[in-house]
Amino acid sequence: MDNGIIEKFKNAIDECSYIVFFGGAGVSTESGIPDFRSTDGLYSQKYKYPPETIVSHTFYTQKTEEFYEFYKDKMLFPDAEPNAAHRKLAELEKEGKLKAVVTQNIDGLHQKAGSKEVLELHGGVSRNYCTKCHKFFDLDYVVKSDGVPKCDQCGGIIKPDVVLYEEGLDSSVISRTIDHIAHADMLIIGGTSLIVYPAAGLIDYFNGKYLVVINMAPTPRDKQADILINGKIGEVFSRL
Ligand code: NAD
Repeated sequence: MDNGIIEKFKNAIDECSYIVFFGGAGVSTESGIPDFRSTDGLYSQKYKYPPETIVSHTFYTQKTEEFYEFYKDKMLFPDAEPNAAHRKLAELEKEGKLKAVVTQNIDGLHQKAGSKEVLELHGGVSRNYCTKCHKFFDLDYVVKSDGVPKCDQCGGIIKPDVVLYEEGLDSSVISRTIDHIAHADMLIIGGTSLIVYPAAGLIDYFNGKYLVVINMAPTPRDKQADILINGKIGEVFSRL
C-alpha cells in the first residue's frame, strides 16, 4: 500500500461532504473477530455443518441447541474493542462528513466506537427477544445463559435480533440505506466479499463521484472503483 493511494483517498475525502461507508466482517478482523471467508475465517474451520447452514432459520428452528453452541462460541465477542477503522469512521461522522455506516456486521463495534447513524442490515447481537412474550434481553444475559437462553418471565426461547439466512431484511433499514447511498458523493466499501445478497446489491444505488474499495481479497466491484486499496482496513484508516 503506497503513500500515493492514501494521499489520493485523503484528498477525495476533503472534497466530499456526503460520505457513506458500506462494510462487512473484514472491518472487525483487526478487532479479533473472525470473518467468514478469509483463510482463517469460519468457513475454513471444520464443523459438523457448514456455518451458513448453522446460521440459517431452518437450523435455528430445528436444532436450536446446536445453533446456540456455535453462535455463542463463534459469533459472540463481548470483549472485542473497535479498531482504527471503526474509530476513524466515528470521527468523520462527528466532523459532519460521513452521514452513515451501513454494516453487514452484527458485532456492534461501530456503535461502541461512537458512530450514531449505523444501519445494521443483518441486525445486532446486543438485542435479543423472547419469542413468546417479546421481553428484551441484552447480550450479557445470552452470554451467561446455559445452552439455549430462556426468558426469565415466561420460559420462552430467546432469539437474537440477527437476520439468519432465509430471513428477510428489515424494510425500514433497507430504505434508509438506499436513501443514504443514493445521496452520497463518496461510497467507501470495506472488508466485505460482496457476495451476500440482497445486502451487496444495495450499492447499485450509488451514483456519486468516488467509489472507494478497501479490501484484502479481490471483490466484484474492484473494476468500478475510482480508488482501490488492497490492504488491511484498520491500517488504511489509521493513516488518514
Ligand atoms: P466475508 O467473510 O464474506 O468477507 C470478508 C472480506 O473482508 C474478505 O473479502 C476479506 O478478504 C476481507 N478482509 C478480512 N479482513 C480484512 C481487513 N482487516 N481489512 C480489509 N479486508 C479484510 O464477510 P461479509 O462480506 O461481511 O459477509 C459475511 C456475512 O457474515 C455477513 O452477512 C455478516 O453479517 C456475517 N459476519 C459478521 C461478523 C461480524 O459481525 N463481525 C463476523 C463474521 C460474519
